[in-house]
Amino acid sequence: MRVYAAEKERHVSMKTAVYPGSFDPITLGHLNIIRRAAAIFDKVVVCVMVNAEKNPMFTRQERVELIRKVVDRFPNVSVMSSDKLLVDVAEEIGDCVVVKGLRAISDFEKEFQMALINKKLNAKVETLFLTSSEKYTFLSSSVVREIASYGAPLEEFVPREIIGDIRKKIESRR
Ligand code: ADP
Repeated sequence: MRVYAAEKERHVSMKTAVYPGSFDPITLGHLNIIRRAAAIFDKVVVCVMVNAEKNPMFTRQERVELIRKVVDRFPNVSVMSSDKLLVDVAEEIGDCVVVKGLRAISDFEKEFQMALINKKLNAKVETLFLTSSEKYTFLSSSVVREIASYGAPLEEFVPREIIGDIRKKIESRR
């Protein structure tokens, strides 16, 4: 098959995906995206970014540790955190694409805008969207934080390994 020069130039290696988010805390929706990205890419780097919210439930380091507990089973997934711009993180990692999960139409506008801004900031950084599994389109970390604070069962929303940590955190905040 003939590959034209312009296409060659624009070719993006699919080796590494960086999956950014606040993950406060990681949910089954996030895990679904991580699992699928890990099957497509050679490596996935989950990057905990600074939370826009002033009062996150878990510190950045705690969020990293919770994700590590959960992704331990995937040999090609690693976890880091950064307070830098996403495009700068991507540049540091090198030769990677940004992967994001798209829940419903409501995510689209914000994510589309972010992807275009990132492209303006660094034209080399491509963003790929994976559509949320329909099972998890309703799920967000904020919903988890809210129902957890009322003591509701969490088994259907977050990975088993971190339920105890969420319960402990809620207790310590009372
Ligand atoms: P949240 O909105 O739950 O606080 P984050 O800011 O941590 O999520 O999101 C990180 C990334 O994961 C974003 O790309 C977001 O669209 C995606 N994501 C969040 N929840 C889900 C879900 N239930 N299914 C698929 N993708 C999701």
